[in-house]
Amino acid sequence: MNQVRIAELAWPVYAERVGSGAPVLIPVGALEQHGPHMSMNPDVLLPTAIAERVAADIGGLVAPAIAYGYKSQQKSGGGNHMPGTTSLDGSTVTSIIRDVLRELARHGVRKAVLINGHYENSAFITEGVDLALRELRWDGIVDFRCIILSYWDFIDQATIDAIYQGDFPGWAVEHGGVLETSLMLHLHPDLVDMSLVHDHPPAVFPPYDVFPIKPEWTPASGCLSSAKRARAEHGELILRVCVQGISGALQTAFD
Ligand code: ZN
Ligand code: MN
Repeated sequence: MNQVRIAELAWPVYAERVGSGAPVLIPVGALEQHGPHMSMNPDVLLPTAIAERVAADIGGLVAPAIAYGYKSQQKSGGGNHMPGTTSLDGSTVTSIIRDVLRELARHGVRKAVLINGHYENSAFITEGVDLALRELRWDGIVDFRCIILSYWDFIDQATIDAIYQGDFPGWAVEHGGVLETSLMLHLHPDLVDMSLVHDHPPAVFPPYDVFPIKPEWTPASGCLSSAKRARAEHGELILRVCVQGISGALQTAFD
């Protein structure tokens, strides 16, 4: 298998791969608490693992993950009040995305993929891509193409049914729940301790946000649903479904 991590390549090898048209995949994550049972880096490790497998499938390269993300929101990530959660302003996320894409374009990259692992990043990734494309157009570069995706959008209903048996709480409250914990059990079991899972019902929120937030709305664990039913085998299935779905989508989109 070709080495896919660009940080581990010597520059002439990288330049040759870029020159032959390799797409570059950029995992975008966050440093964010994910409950007492798990490390704070699933939003980085999971899109990175997916990106490396997809890159191997499609002849792509993987840039180092962006390890910090936009502020954790209470109804999707527990909230930005939790210890450990370390977030960027939206304009910073946008600037990082714009700057990295502009540099890749300078190297000759013409196909880039942002693989998001942290829900709150989405709009700021989009803005960074838009600003990068605008700057590149000013420089006369009009053939740079970007795809933005969040890996959980590739998990189909059959997979959801197989894992949740009719009890799927929705992606919004999956923070630190069965999805991320199962993937971590499969990929990084050393970073999970299932004996520390808090088994509680999915968090229920009103259809609005309040600021300052009400910390008592977030379950004490910091998770928005229970990871009790997480299994490494579920993680293996989810990983396979995501890698197949994303590899296929990128081949279609870039053809
Ligand atoms: Zn997460
Ligand atoms: Mn997150």
